[in-house]
Amino acid sequence: MQPVDVLAIGAGQAGLSAAHHLQRRGFVPVPRAEAGDRTFVVLDAERAPGGAWQHRWQSLKMGTINGIYELPGFEVPAADPAASSRDVLPAYFAAYEERFGLAVQRPVRVHAVRRPEAGDGEAVRDSLIVETDAGTWSAGHVINATGTWTRPFLPHYPGMETFRGRHVHVKDYVSAEEFAGKRVVVVGAGISATQLLEEISRVADTFWVTRREPVWLDDLPPDHLAAAVARVEERVRQGLPAQSVVRVTGMHRAPWVRRAEERGVLVRHPMFTAIEEHGVRMPDGSFERADVILWATGFRAELAHLAPLRLRTPQGGLRVRNGRSLDEPRLFVIGYGPSQSTVGANRAGRDAVRAIVAEPAASQTTGRPHRKPPLPTVGIAA
Ligand code: FAD
Repeated sequence: MQPVDVLAIGAGQAGLSAAHHLQRRGFVPVPRAEAGDRTFVVLDAERAPGGAWQHRWQSLKMGTINGIYELPGFEVPAADPAASSRDVLPAYFAAYEERFGLAVQRPVRVHAVRRPEAGDGEAVRDSLIVETDAGTWSAGHVINATGTWTRPFLPHYPGMETFRGRHVHVKDYVSAEEFAGKRVVVVGAGISATQLLEEISRVADTFWVTRREPVWLDDLPPDHLAAAVARVEERVRQGLPAQSVVRVTGMHRAPWVRRAEERGVLVRHPMFTAIEEHGVRMPDGSFERADVILWATGFRAELAHLAPLRLRTPQGGLRVRNGRSLDEPRLFVIGYGPSQSTVGANRAGRDAVRAIVAEPAASQTTGRPHRKPPLPTVGIAA
């Protein structure tokens, strides 16, 4: 069992932000650590840098993403708005890891995070045990930054399995061309649904359904956004399932939204009540034919490996405040709930590290005294 002071799971925006701030506070990546160093390691299941960005669909361009907040201390290079985000951003993440020497270990998948058991030995009594497909670690603190991409959410509707066409979740969307000439029912009220509706409607006949009437805002004032983040934060503190901030704020009427409106594409219908062999049954009893049902119904937080800690509330969430589990203080859960955005992930990584540094016990997993004093806590970039 390899000891480490802080172990971060996931090398997306949240995990890399945490790694950056750990390094700024004097923690050293495991491969370069010497006796007495406070140590950290980042484990990532992907084969290459970029977190979820490397898997987004090709047509999600730099000009149509929602806006990227740069990783701490390193500007996103100027990019052609027509360039695909899945080409530009993974390259940026790779350059970031290299520039700061973050020594991310990949591909390493974490299977379980658990509390120590009798057979683990006295030395790891105060640690969390992290089991992976490449060995086991004992960590003073764990920063979970595993995102949502690996857990697409698809609600269940009666008759779903009888459908003769294709069910496609946006996670598996490739391009509009695969739907050319078909009738596509698009489900969902978020940014993905509306963006894909805009592009698919150019080559296919589309029919858009949502559970709620989408809320469009011509601009998103900062206080509106802050209030929405506060509402999500409060839900997460209570252990309710995390909601995405976008769902709470409403959606910005970006230029591409206006264009879609002008083309008469954004015509919303209420959610269907059942799925049949060749289409969907609407609440008024009418029938809509479909070759494809595209589920833009979002994602859930990837937390399965935390199950041994038994932190789930009866409502299905984790109780988290300022990124820290209220029920397991050695665990931080970032990029979750209010920090599920690039700016939120950045701040959550910084705040988790601040909280860890504030604890004198941070170095005890190595059982050695600090080699360097912690850096001052002021002047850390957002
Ligand atoms: P990720 O980037 O998903 O990184 C998580 C990492 O953890 C991955 O590398 C994954 O492989 C790894 N991992 C997962 N499980 C394990 C495990 N068990 N063991 C080891 N590693 C594991 N936000 C914005 O601010 N602006 C946008 O424009 C924007 N666009 C978006 C578009 C789409 C289609 C979606 C779905 C989301 C978008 N978001 C956007 C939200 C976005 O998800 C976050 O902003 C941010 O990129 C997520 O970073 P993350 O670090 O939390 O997760």
